[in-house]
Amino acid sequence: MAMQGKLTVYYGCMFAGKTSALIEYISKAGLRRNEFLVLKPAVDIRSGNRTITTHDGKSHECVIVEQDTDLNELITPFIRMIAIDEAQFFDKVFFSEVKRFLAKGIHVVAAGLDKDYLGRPFGLMPMLQTIATEKNHLKAVCNHCGKDAEYTYRKVDNKVLVLIGNANHYEARCESCYGRED
Ligand SMILES: [Zn+2]
Repeated sequence: MAMQGKLTVYYGCMFAGKTSALIEYISKAGLRRNEFLVLKPAVDIRSGNRTITTHDGKSHECVIVEQDTDLNELITPFIRMIAIDEAQFFDKVFFSEVKRFLAKGIHVVAAGLDKDYLGRPFGLMPMLQTIATEKNHLKAVCNHCGKDAEYTYRKVDNKVLVLIGNANHYEARCESCYGRED
């Protein structure tokens, strides 16, 4: 029976440096290329290709997980770590997969938005936070007052939940500035 893997989670609002933290974690782990996987959901096409990308331009190659991607084919016996970006876009089925990875002794590190732009719990993220071994709440800088920001404010009038965007669509805000309309 393999020892349970640990689950490290980086969560917070947009522009909090979650993907940067994930990329740094991957490089510090010092694993060989066949010992880890980097996954992101197909919904995030921001970078357009097989990379995870930060807002300030850092990137790392990854596997894009589609609805029909067979993860079993990717998990070779050599895999020791699985890094997941934009984890909020995964669903409950994927949560079972994560628990299965952990049961195999694989270390999982996940980064994602804990709240959507309406301040509601976002997708898989709260479930991951619940079972995480190590939780890191990353904060951005409030666009209005410069205090620590925990909320993602959507600047454009578009009610679609999944609007992949950047600084043109969103900004980070602290709790009090998030509640304001301007
Ligand atoms: Zn503020």
